[in-house]
Amino acid sequence: MHTWKYTQPVEIIFKADVLNDLDDILSQRGFSQGILICSNFFVKNGMAKEVMNSCASLRAVHSGIQPNPTLENVQSCAAAMVAAKAEFALAIGGGSVLDCAKIACAIAKSGQQIAKIYAGEEKLSGDTLPMIAVPTTAGTGSEVTAVSVLNDDTGKLKASVVDPCLFPKLAIIDPVLTMSMPPAVTAATGLDALAHALEGFWSKNHQPICDALALEAARKVFSALPVAYKSGNDIKARTEMCEASLIAGLAFALPRTAGSHACSYILTTDYGMSHGEACAFTLAAFTRINADAEKGRLHDFAKKLGFEDALAMADRIDEMKKEMGLKYTLGQAGIRNEDLAKVAHANQHPNLLNNPVEMSVEKLVAMYNEIG
Ligand code: NAD
Repeated sequence: MHTWKYTQPVEIIFKADVLNDLDDILSQRGFSQGILICSNFFVKNGMAKEVMNSCASLRAVHSGIQPNPTLENVQSCAAAMVAAKAEFALAIGGGSVLDCAKIACAIAKSGQQIAKIYAGEEKLSGDTLPMIAVPTTAGTGSEVTAVSVLNDDTGKLKASVVDPCLFPKLAIIDPVLTMSMPPAVTAATGLDALAHALEGFWSKNHQPICDALALEAARKVFSALPVAYKSGNDIKARTEMCEASLIAGLAFALPRTAGSHACSYILTTDYGMSHGEACAFTLAAFTRINADAEKGRLHDFAKKLGFEDALAMADRIDEMKKEMGLKYTLGQAGIRNEDLAKVAHANQHPNLLNNPVEMSVEKLVAMYNEIG
């Protein structure tokens, strides 16, 4: 018998225009001295100032975190938390800001050095400042995971730190905050959510609760992402995408991701793709590779979503990438034939072991040739 467990420690609030209630939300939970961590985008558009003005418990603001945050970003974020004597952090941004803030909370509390944690020389102490995660993209699900994905300072290595202390204390999801995402960011982050749903479902560690979540998340992405991409102000589509991202986050938080995420890291570090676009690059290919695994459970999944089978679902993923202007060939990605062995070797990441079909370097090279 397949044994499994389910746990989800993050309190979740889902509400439009939630920034108006933030002060109450913070004071009801006894938060009295904290720091706002946010993207440069929200400093420039004035939202950071508005939040600072409306929340009495926020004493400082820190920004300047780059997409695919670095160890240096984490260390300076933690230093800002210490300097502000912060007892909690409110992080408002995409997955990059959330991932940086969640691990900065841990090292600000413990006084550890991020480089030693990242290198595996030390474990996180387990103690952390409580963090409130407010996503502004609809894709990563970072608000409900215990994962922080970081680049080393050379930008040549991208890897995750996973520890239960990295779960945010509270996730607040407000679809209105995602309406300013440009179409390209909407497309890439939205397909990251689909990758989470599919990989959580076909991961070797899949389990019934996460399977149900994965199905619902994928259903929402297939219906709402094309609309959110074309009509960024469509609040219904933005709401569905925020739900999809959150539910997909819950769907992969325990089973973990698999092949597409394993393959994505070098596509970001060496070929400059955003995280979501990099995951999407091999998602249809892995859907085809995994279609018949475990007695074809992926075909059943696809049929429940109205596709003829998993192969038709893969075709739709390819079509969506084309419709939304994402890269779908090796040439567009700048990957030369002579690079394929190097890429496939770099793809031998622990997440690849979660894929239901074993993927050798040779099979990966064949997969890339198939992508063409
Ligand atoms: P991101 O946070 O890197 O943001 C992408 C760009 O969009 C940035 O320039 C950002 O400033 C901008 N942006 C964000 N929200 C915006 C908005 N509402 N309006 C206008 N611009 C906005 O992108 P992301 O895809 O959310 O996060 C990617 C990172 O998250 C990667 O490092 C990835 O590895 C990581 N990730 C983490 C988890 C996890 O569980 N912790 C899961 C998936 C991905």
